[in-house]
Amino acid sequence: DALNNSLSELRNINVSFEFFPPRTEQMETTLWNSVQRLAPLKPAYMSVTYGANSGERDRTHDVVKRIQAETGVAAAPHLTCVDATRDELVQIARDYWQAGIRKIVALRGDLPAGVAKTDLYAADLVALLKEVADFDIAVAAYPEIHPEAPNGQFDLLNLKRKAEAGASAAITQFFFDAEVFLRFRDRAAAAGIDLEIIPGILPVTNYNTLVRFAGMTNVNVPGWLHRMYDGLADNDQTTRNLLGASIAMDMTRILAKEGVRNFHFYTLNRCELSYAICHMLGLRAT
Ligand code: FAD
Repeated sequence: DALNNSLSELRNINVSFEFFPPRTEQMETTLWNSVQRLAPLKPAYMSVTYGANSGERDRTHDVVKRIQAETGVAAAPHLTCVDATRDELVQIARDYWQAGIRKIVALRGDLPAGVAKTDLYAADLVALLKEVADFDIAVAAYPEIHPEAPNGQFDLLNLKRKAEAGASAAITQFFFDAEVFLRFRDRAAAAGIDLEIIPGILPVTNYNTLVRFAGMTNVNVPGWLHRMYDGLADNDQTTRNLLGASIAMDMTRILAKEGVRNFHFYTLNRCELSYAICHMLGLRAT
């Protein structure tokens, strides 16, 4: 009964999966295995990240096209303002629209070393895209505040500007405390931000990389998470994956109970953990 109750609570779940363009042949194989494994879960879309240099831009476009062609799942390219002029962005947006792309994740972008700021911010990009065509646009949000923002209120007003410019959803930076997400969702609602706030779930497979990345992005790694990996052999990947799945499942279960129905997975091009978590959330391959 307990299982039936929890499964019925978990109806109407929508998921999306994020990938990055592969840089080697081996990574390419891993990516396409993952895409094929996750596609039957019928995600709302699969998104593909976008790097600062032009080579990576083409790779994003190639992966997006191939996802749509081979799986029938909608693919959403990420697009950033770093190192691109307004005219270039307009041209990229037109090309995407003509290629049948209807959803874009619009970002300012990670600043390359030595670059202090960009001419355009994500809110400007959302407005620019909406001028080109009626894209369905998701933006980024930061429950623990973006590292460059002077304070939380400034960052929240920035999110509001992105909503007012025409975004329909915000995907959050990853986090490890469900309360952090829930409080942020409340703050956004109280600020009148009319966006679906979607938790970004990072199923952890590599603890060391996670700690480094969390430090760069202002994400708190709680003491209990450090303790969980303490004393575990570096090469014990099986136990590491089981811990990662357990952490993400606990968190998604709490969020689902709190009414969250959309989840975005930072897959890092792997499928095992995301697949298992989706299964736990009640999704079945069709
Ligand atoms: P913005 O919303 O523009 O905000 C950036 C910072 O500037 C914030 O601190 C904000 O408060 C501040 N700000 C906004 N407007 C102004 C203004 N007018 N004046 C002064 N300050 C201002 N990066 C990539 O390079 N490629 C990707 O594919 C990618 N995908 C991502 C996907 C998700 C779901 C998330 C959460 C992040 C992703 N990132 C990606 C990282 C992202 O690009 C960085 O976090 C970047 O530093 C901020 O992008 P943003 O869109 O949130 O920027």
